[in-house]
Amino acid sequence: MVNQMTKLNWAGFSKKSPEERIAFLENHQLLNPEEQEALAQHQVLSLEIANQMAENVIGTHSLPLALVPDFLIDGKNYQVTFVTEEPSVVAAASFAAKIIKRSGGFQTRVHDRKMIGQVALFDVPDKEQAVQNILQKSASLLSLANEAHPSIVKRGGGAREVKAEIKDNFIIVYLTVDTQEAMGANMVNTMMEALAPTLEEVSGGQSLMAILSNYATESLVTAECAVDLRFLSRKQEEAHYLARKMELASQLAQIDPYRASTHNKGIFNGIDALVMATGNDWRAIEAGCHAYACQDGQYRGLSTWTFDEAEHCLRGSLTLPMPIATKGGSIGLNPTVQIAHDLLGHPSARELASIITSVGLAQNFAALKALTSTGIQAGHMKLQAKSLALLAGARETELGQLVPQLLHAKHLNLETAQAILQDLRNHKN
Ligand code: NDP
Repeated sequence: MVNQMTKLNWAGFSKKSPEERIAFLENHQLLNPEEQEALAQHQVLSLEIANQMAENVIGTHSLPLALVPDFLIDGKNYQVTFVTEEPSVVAAASFAAKIIKRSGGFQTRVHDRKMIGQVALFDVPDKEQAVQNILQKSASLLSLANEAHPSIVKRGGGAREVKAEIKDNFIIVYLTVDTQEAMGANMVNTMMEALAPTLEEVSGGQSLMAILSNYATESLVTAECAVDLRFLSRKQEEAHYLARKMELASQLAQIDPYRASTHNKGIFNGIDALVMATGNDWRAIEAGCHAYACQDGQYRGLSTWTFDEAEHCLRGSLTLPMPIATKGGSIGLNPTVQIAHDLLGHPSARELASIITSVGLAQNFAALKALTSTGIQAGHMKLQAKSLALLAGARETELGQLVPQLLHAKHLNLETAQAILQDLRNHKN
């Protein structure tokens, strides 16, 4: 395998056919021959394995798997795969990755990597006394949790801390757990359920539920970058104006939830695509990050951009809860997920969390740059026209003629695409 320091020439990759792209990856030892064969023959998730992953399975559902080359993160180059059905997401990420690489890449920091579980107790007769009793028993509660899942202790992880808080009518007991390379939902749930009877005994109350929290505030990751202004525009004045507008766009997402929601959706265009490609639970990541976006009571943009006039750059920063896994769940079962981890060079869970957060920041950069300059539609139109042409039934060989005509048509819709296609075919016959 090519290591992450190797420089490859990706020029023209987007113009190649899927077969040529697969061949390129194999030629550069980014895919092994089995993986190349699997992709070329569309050997994806088998029905047999799918039937083990979920219930009532009647088939498998496919989505495009794309490659975004060369994310430079903490001095290493990563080849990132995206699973997405949305046009322009991959192109935007590639564009941003290239610019940010040339500006020095991303710098990341994993603040911590632990999951949180909770047991909610109700009908507790003396809540203050109960909290004291629970905290006094911390050491034995930690042992109890670890005995419920001894294999994670053998791997160097395990339960780390017990906290208890009174919230309205409840006492909520929180347990932080080092889940190592796993996301940890099942192992934390097992621990919480094991603690519930003892907590009922100690508190004199009843357990309402015992489960992991997706608000993973002990798994925060920060990605930062400083984009050189010359990549915003060659003209200095225009570059300054654009940097200021991007800073304002970031401020707008802090104060207006209507904008914040769309701002964050753009971040998740990249994050979800990579989270899915690496076989992780994207609902869990979305739930945690959206809760984090309103940690002070108002839903806000997750990233910030500031124009550093003195240093002649635009500084981006994104902090997210990112309890991502490289082991467990369905990660080992899906062949294309294995290819994604292989292309990334098998990063650890901490490293993968940094990559995913950086991808979110890159996607956000591309969206804000487009929005504050040409507008988002200019780039989308061509891809939208292509989608409409395909929907109208055009073959790949017909796209070259149909898409430009559709772009010049008064109404860019399916009816127009069908009419132009019919016209082209009539003239051909
Ligand atoms: P698993 O139940 O699959 O447990 C992790 C597995 O990974 C274990 O079998 C463990 O083996 C193995 N493993 C191998 N190497 C390592 C390592 N280095 N570090 C840690 N584990 C390792 O998954 P999780 O407990 O992580 O739970 C995630 C799953 O739970 C996801 O599929 C998620 O969708 C689902 N889920 C999510 C919920 C939520 O988000 N609220 C709720 C319920 C389920 P061993 O046991 O030998 O240590």
